[in-house]
Amino acid sequence: MSTSRSNAALFERASGVIPGGVNSPVRAFRAVGGTPRFIDRAQGAYMWDAEGKRYIDYIGSWGPMILGHGHPAVLEAVQQAARDGFSFGAPTEREIDLAEAIIALVPSVEQIRLVSSGTEAGMSALRLARGATGRSKIIKFEGCYHGHADALLVKAGSGLATFGFPTSAGVPAEVVQHTLVLEYNNLAQLDEAFATHGPEMACVMIEPIAGNMNFVRASVPFMTRLRELCTQHGALLVFDEVMTGFRVALGGAQSVYAQLIPGFKPDMSVFGKVIGGGMPLAAFGGTREVMSQLAPLGPVYQAGTLSGNPVATACGLATLKEIARPGFFDALSASTRSLVEGLSGAARNAGVPLVGDSEGGMFGFFFADSLPQNYGVVMGTDKERFNRFFHGMLDRGVYLAPALYEAGFVSAAHSAEDIAATVQAAGEALRG
Ligand SMILES: *Cc1c(COP(=O)(O)O)cnc(C)c1O
Repeated sequence: MSTSRSNAALFERASGVIPGGVNSPVRAFRAVGGTPRFIDRAQGAYMWDAEGKRYIDYIGSWGPMILGHGHPAVLEAVQQAARDGFSFGAPTEREIDLAEAIIALVPSVEQIRLVSSGTEAGMSALRLARGATGRSKIIKFEGCYHGHADALLVKAGSGLATFGFPTSAGVPAEVVQHTLVLEYNNLAQLDEAFATHGPEMACVMIEPIAGNMNFVRASVPFMTRLRELCTQHGALLVFDEVMTGFRVALGGAQSVYAQLIPGFKPDMSVFGKVIGGGMPLAAFGGTREVMSQLAPLGPVYQAGTLSGNPVATACGLATLKEIARPGFFDALSASTRSLVEGLSGAARNAGVPLVGDSEGGMFGFFFADSLPQNYGVVMGTDKERFNRFFHGMLDRGVYLAPALYEAGFVSAAHSAEDIAATVQAAGEALRG
């Protein structure tokens, strides 16, 4: 290892030319402290940093790498697509293939448009919901992240009478004045918001299983009421499944809720992460009626130079094909559950309070006595212990999400031995 290849040296160099040394803030390790690891390469369940240290990877690029890194079938599809051309700015057959594949897996989606990032998909879905309903007001929930579009970077005002305040400089107050921010899983607030603003409400955007406040499920009564209120008031229910789509189940979180609530469907869905298999690709879709409001058919404008990119669609299609194999999600769910059970067991043995939950290949754990139901409670869990645990695990070659409010991800490449090694490391880290 030469000094110029140390993580610390790379971080210093990066910080000279890139704000904070990173191209997306959470990568800077600000929440947990310490030096970010610069990753050289990854294979299967592992990543190697610039110093040659190996980590068992539980981020998987924040969800996309559901097959593990460098899956041979995906690699082959990407290489073939790259040989045929990187981008044309004209339609391709693979865009149809991918749209058809998604529609076949998600019954609520009749038409879909491909874009390049979850932020773009969320922003476009919001514009479409407003355009299709002719209304301006929207509801989002505290702790849910829908990308960094201006109208969605917002925190709750004081009480339901006032709409939100921007959470980022550079977002004018006027831009978020139509965004109402409610507490996740709070039925009374939901009822009150619709009673007050129902006729003006364009849509409600929600992470059905929230992965941007660790791992918090919308309760069944809450989701049931949300569906009823949206239908009753003519507001569109928009599921942000950028994280959960093709990750918690083949049909996304909506298929999980459809099993719990008969006939349940959202009106629109937003996808990203897994559908690109690690390449920049995202999408938003819904009923034919709503989607027909988009340009060039309708008055809602949206466009993209690299939308439906031929290499990205090849990567996404190859990924979807693998995860649609019979038994894929059963095996992934079992392996994710064994990880969460192992972590809980290790904590019990060490006398540390820890609770966890998972669905499909997505999981979360908290240093707390019971599972939090909203953002405020998540942020009240033991941060010092989480940060110590994160670094204890990192030192032992296990790469967890570097913030207590982020979910974790298991891939099909994680073996029983990888999970056992992780649980072993957790036992040591929790005692250390
Ligand atoms: C990651 C994420 C986004 C944003 O996607 P980007 O591709 O990072 O822009 C939006 N919504 C949810 C739920 C996400 O997890």
